[in-house]
Amino acid sequence: MSRMPRTNGAVAVGDCLPVGVAAADVARLQRAPGGLEYAYRCPLHDADRVAPYTPAFARQFLTASADGLCCCVDEMPWSVRHGLARSRLLAWLLITLWLANLADLLLTLRAVAAGRATEANGVMSYFLHAGSLAAGVFKVGLVSAAVVLLWILRRRSVVLPATAALTLALVALVAYEALALLTA
Ligand SMILES: [Zn+2]
Repeated sequence: MSRMPRTNGAVAVGDCLPVGVAAADVARLQRAPGGLEYAYRCPLHDADRVAPYTPAFARQFLTASADGLCCCVDEMPWSVRHGLARSRLLAWLLITLWLANLADLLLTLRAVAAGRATEANGVMSYFLHAGSLAAGVFKVGLVSAAVVLLWILRRRSVVLPATAALTLALVALVAYEALALLTA
């Protein structure tokens, strides 16, 4: 997760607000004829911008630039303008995905051990015959690698909806398996 610097009004003229680790992600507060303004760089368009300073704008800038999104005035993504940090939402989805996968593994192993179900997935079936430890290591390893890959690619717009769909499908599968186990 990105570091979130303090923005609750505790900024002074000339302050630099570092965001993340990239040196380019810096906003500078400066005096302007009409009051204070924010000079910064939009990480998406790689262009220098100036905006009137408001605490709300500072918060939006920090959220958007930490995610590498557009910070141009009035062009920030909807999610940023409404204070929703995409990376935070993605992190929670990925954690849920990883845990749901673990639950799916445990429920499948239990159902197979009880002779109530056979693994429909051919690859998983092979590993189940090799032993439940091998099956567990394979499944958890595969999903862990996928979670890391999705996090690395998080700035691509397709990653959040794709992760949400994947997580929802797996949670539904786990719910179905749990229900089947309870009613068996
Ligand atoms: Zn921009």
